[in-house]
Amino acid sequence: MRTEAEAGEFVNVRLPIFLEQGFSCLEREVVAERVCCLCGTCAAFCEKIKINEESRNELKPEFVEEYDTVCGLCYAFCPRTFLPFSELERRIFGVARASEAREASEAREASAEPLGVYRSCYAVRSKKEKGDLEGRVQDGGAVTSLLAYALEEGVLDSAVVTAADEQWRPQTRVARSYEDLKAAAGTKYTIYPSVLGVKEAFEEGCESVGFVGLPCQIQGLRKVQTSEQPYEVGKEKIKLLVGLFCMENFSAGLLEFVSARLEKEGLDLAGVKKFDIKGKELLISGGASGGVHKIALDEIKEYESEGCSVCTDYTAELADISVGSVGSEEGWSTVLARTELGEEVVKGALEKGFVEVKEVEEKGLGLVRRLAVRKKRSGSGGKAGAGI
Ligand SMILES: Cc1cc2nc3c(=O)[nH]c(=O)nc-3n(C[C@H](O)[C@H](O)[C@H](O)COP(=O)(O)OP(=O)(O)OC[C@H]3O[C@@H](n4cnc5c(N)ncnc54)[C@H](O)[C@@H]3O)c2cc1C
Ligand code: SF4
Ligand code: SF4
Ligand code: SF4
Repeated sequence: MRTEAEAGEFVNVRLPIFLEQGFSCLEREVVAERVCCLCGTCAAFCEKIKINEESRNELKPEFVEEYDTVCGLCYAFCPRTFLPFSELERRIFGVARASEAREASEAREASAEPLGVYRSCYAVRSKKEKGDLEGRVQDGGAVTSLLAYALEEGVLDSAVVTAADEQWRPQTRVARSYEDLKAAAGTKYTIYPSVLGVKEAFEEGCESVGFVGLPCQIQGLRKVQTSEQPYEVGKEKIKLLVGLFCMENFSAGLLEFVSARLEKEGLDLAGVKKFDIKGKELLISGGASGGVHKIALDEIKEYESEGCSVCTDYTAELADISVGSVGSEEGWSTVLARTELGEEVVKGALEKGFVEVKEVEEKGLGLVRRLAVRKKRSGSGGKAGAGI
């Protein structure tokens, strides 16, 4: 398996037109190599692959039929088999990547930037009068509000979101209303195959599907959208991809660890209002005391998901809109509008009063860039430079 950074260097690699690599290749190159990020893309687009609770914990999507017809889709769609970033960027944004940009003077230099290609950048927060988001959203509520706008204006008929049960176990939901979006607000730091929610949306007859998820999940869906193959997979129904910044994610063991910690203080997960990572700590808010319980990230290192170790994408570089907390002050989200549609949604949500926006300070954006470069380096074993 090539890392994202390595794959990104093969600027002339074209996405395959039709692959005949079966599940056994995926199993050998991704699952057995322990680089599966559990995005869920393979299982979302093939009935023969399942990801149940056990396979989730072991990062092992499973082949559950007797015969593999070897259509190659799972291999082609998986973000961990090959990831020709330049080619994907060209297809999505119509611009070349850094290494080519240097050679082709007509190509936009934007792609040389560690944040990837983007058209505009804002600090965003939801407008109070457009819904009671107080205490529900993670940062500025940008994700919830932008999707609410897209649903209300008919840009989308549904949005796949990741909610949680009362023990904070993630679950995908097909949101059709502001209420559904609100119920799924907030960050869940447990790895989950959220792309499976796209399958649910298709099964429910949705025609214009939005998706919010992590950079690896966006990569999987972009491969689905851009690969040329002879099968009907419904890719034209995937309309808007909202990506979250992501430095790392954790296994389900984290929830057990936190639960045991809280128990010592007479608290439990059901009372937790919010999880957040700030600096070098996991902050857990809520519980009977209403206080904030802190756990050093060093203490939960063993729960970092193995598949994240080769990840080089901090800001969801292939999304239509990317959103994170870093870069903006408390209570605001940093938003990068990358595609024309992404920019239209942000501007439309502003005009219709769903959000308010202000400039992201250069200092804040500089921090996002530094973290993006750090992740490119760590995910590629120290080989990647800022321009990748
Ligand atoms: C695992 C993880 C790691 C992150 N790491 C960083 C980081 O290093 N730096 C940074 O700046 N930001 C990070 N974020 C993003 C940040 O926590 C917020 O999600 C982001 O700022 C959006 O805030 P908001 O108030 O606009 O979102 P809200 O309006 O609260 O909406 C949040 C949306 O995120 C979705 N979501 C929540 N958890 C998951 C999940 N596990 N998988 C898929 N979708 C999910 C929900 O469906 C919801 O629609 C991370 C998020 C996650 C899930
Ligand atoms: S049928 Fe196609 S998508 Fe499904 S497991 Fe086989 S090769 Fe993968
Ligand atoms: S990374 Fe995603 S697509 Fe690849 S094997 Fe894992 S769950 Fe499937
Ligand atoms: S670090 Fe990368 S692989 Fe891990 S959850 Fe985040 S985007 Fe996915």
